[in-house]
Amino acid sequence: MKAGVVRETASGERRVALVPDTVTKLQASGIEVLVERGAGEGAWLSDSAYADAGASIVSAAELYRDADVILTVTKPSAEAVHMLRPGQAVVGMLTPLVHPELAAALAAQGVTAISLDRMPRTLTRTQPMDALSSQANVAGYKAAVVAAAEFGGFFPLLITAAGTARPAKVLVLGAGVAGLQAIGTARRLGAVVSGYDVRPASKTEVESLGATFIELTEGVSAAGEGGYARELNAEERQAQQDELAGHIARHDVVITTAQVPGRRPPLLVTEDAIKAMTSGSVVVDMGASPLGGNVAGSRPGETVVTGNGITIIGADNLPATMPTAASNAYSRNISALLGYMTSDGALAIDTSDEIQAGVVITHDGRIVQEAVARLLPAETPAKGGASDVSGSTY
Ligand code: NAD
Repeated sequence: MKAGVVRETASGERRVALVPDTVTKLQASGIEVLVERGAGEGAWLSDSAYADAGASIVSAAELYRDADVILTVTKPSAEAVHMLRPGQAVVGMLTPLVHPELAAALAAQGVTAISLDRMPRTLTRTQPMDALSSQANVAGYKAAVVAAAEFGGFFPLLITAAGTARPAKVLVLGAGVAGLQAIGTARRLGAVVSGYDVRPASKTEVESLGATFIELTEGVSAAGEGGYARELNAEERQAQQDELAGHIARHDVVITTAQVPGRRPPLLVTEDAIKAMTSGSVVVDMGASPLGGNVAGSRPGETVVTGNGITIIGADNLPATMPTAASNAYSRNISALLGYMTSDGALAIDTSDEIQAGVVITHDGRIVQEAVARLLPAETPAKGGASDVSGSTY
């Protein structure tokens, strides 16, 4: 089997799907690796480092012609989709719940789409393949570092000859993988940290990192399926926003990481909450997206300073800003997945397998995942025969 590593083309994307260390391991396991020229440049990995690891350096045209499996970080561009050919597989973070039309296009082209962001993460054996967690870890760390760099004061308590500086008060909203890493990092930098989440289970995790868990008096408990949160209804959302505003106003730095799978990120920091903050405060919105994020007024990829002196950072793709750490981890995730799905030197698609039922989105010209097919108009040709993952009816 030949696996091909593409050069990412999305704006600002500096990660690469495989790093040279992993190339060596894959080659040893019988998978030949082709690398598109310059694929590792954004992560400071030269073509010669890949060649030394045993990969063949090729052009994009050669890659799409010769590889059996195309490896990407983010979803392929429209141009790349046209270059894929029937029978080929593409493995990456394809976000099919956000881009079901991409799944339809790949199915129509006879391409097998395998999406790491659909991994059933609560199964212990999927941990080495869990790219959402590996990238969220990087993002959470970087969010705290970005906040500290932007904030005009110290994070730690400092006692100096010129006086004492009080530690910064940091609030992290959303205490999943990224939120917990942001809490841990802000703590290591010496800040006084609080955390909040709608999943009650997160309380002990927040507290185990030495942070205070914020419990709302109008306590909303919104644990959903698979360890994720469910979407709040309008009344719950309003109560949450109103009560959070008081806490937000008392903090110097707010980092938001709240997500609900397949939905636009919930708005946690309203315009009124921003207005009540003290001038010089910093807000990092990791939910920032073109549809809106966790913070009113945040813009993906941009830093906005409000009239009352609040810096809002729309941190939409923090892992891309730490391409070394993010690519190393992602590369191990991809390698573990390939190892899991390969048999006798080829990808062995078997959607009766619990993990594959999660990650395989299209196969044999069809969208095989009901959650994705459901998002498409009834007349979409590739929709036929999709089955529900949760029902395991393949
Ligand atoms: P995520 O990125 O989907 O969301 C981030 C956080 O935002 C979550 O903790 C979620 O509860 C929270 N959130 C959503 N809506 C909110 C709201 N309105 N207000 C406040 N917070 C809100 O989540 P994630 O980081 O990917 O992790 C989700 C869960 O999966 C966690 O419980 C995590 O521990 C679990 N997980 C388990 C495993 C495993 O069992 N092996 C692996 C990875 C993740």
